[in-house]
Amino acid sequence: MIPFNVPPYCGREDAYVLEAIHSHKISGDGAFTKKCHAWLEEHTGTARALLTTSGTHALEMAALLCRLRPGDEVILPSYTFSSSANAFVLAGAVPVFVDIRPDTMNMDERLIEDAITPRTRVICVMHYAGVACEMDTIMDIARRHGLKVIEDAAQGVMASYKGRALGTIGDYGCYSFHESKNYSMGEGGAILQGRDDPRAEIIREKGTNRARFLRGQVDKYTWEDLGSSYLPSEMNAAYLWGQLEMAGEINDARRHCWALYREMLSPLAEEGRVELQAVPEGCVHNAHMFYVKAKDLAQRTELTAWLRARGVQAPFHYVPLHSANAGLRFGRFHGEDKYTTKESQRLLRLPMFYGLTDSQVEQAAEAVISFYREGPVL
Ligand SMILES: *Cc1c(COP(=O)(O)O)cnc(C)c1O
Repeated sequence: MIPFNVPPYCGREDAYVLEAIHSHKISGDGAFTKKCHAWLEEHTGTARALLTTSGTHALEMAALLCRLRPGDEVILPSYTFSSSANAFVLAGAVPVFVDIRPDTMNMDERLIEDAITPRTRVICVMHYAGVACEMDTIMDIARRHGLKVIEDAAQGVMASYKGRALGTIGDYGCYSFHESKNYSMGEGGAILQGRDDPRAEIIREKGTNRARFLRGQVDKYTWEDLGSSYLPSEMNAAYLWGQLEMAGEINDARRHCWALYREMLSPLAEEGRVELQAVPEGCVHNAHMFYVKAKDLAQRTELTAWLRARGVQAPFHYVPLHSANAGLRFGRFHGEDKYTTKESQRLLRLPMFYGLTDSQVEQAAEAVISFYREGPVL
């Protein structure tokens, strides 16, 4: 069976984790964390990057940094991971879901302005599959209405929009280094800030100014603000360092597999049998994901089984948040659900991970092709 995902591993992670252990600095913000921060700042151009214990926690930090009050509204897509909405619900805000565009599965930028009310404070975009949202339009709307922009760029590390790294365009960008992402530290993430807000390191360190204390800027540290424990251990950062120093290789290998899938499946797309993801002008993707869209839910179900029978693990993805129990309780959908539900039911993800071989890509792509050439007629 070709698995859908294998956690990335390059070879030096073990040595780095041992080095962290033997340095007698295993809590956070040691040498490996600093290397990761420097890498992120250099490669994305962000003013300040901070590792976090997860992408979810990066989003929670971003919500706290926006100083949301109960009843404030956050505009976001419904086709996303629960964390994109949870972070704001925990801060007392109401998620207002907007429909997606079918070509990229990203929030439709043309529908955002109509969802704005006097309570709206934040637009939270999610760059699905590492393909950017239409950020020029979104930043313009935010500026005109005085809103903050948070980028859920959990899937967007090493991807860009018009030359700018995803996660650096809005006020805050949130990366994930979960084992299902392009670069991993087991569980972990990072928050990127366009402008370095001194509250960020306080929120991340249990609401204390411990970071200033460690730099010798204050003579004792105290409780200063809201916060939690959002900094990861050095062992996790050490694993991540083994990935970041190989980021170019990982990205090239993934993009190679993506291009091979694309080449093999383009004829089916040209015949109108499947749809493939669009990568709009100005977007450089990171091959986080390769998906196909079947005709409808029934055909996708058949295709999934066909692939499984041919040794290919191919999962679907998000159940739209607005139709989930918590979404019904905490949020509301603005406007018409023209594409969110319909498109989510057609989408199927093919195996994609660092170390996937050409012959595995060929086997997976050929299994999709054979379904449409020889499979059950639907
Ligand atoms: C993975 C992911 C998250 C959560 O990241 P964790 O590190 O698992 O907490 C949030 N949003 C999106 C879009 C994701 O893909």
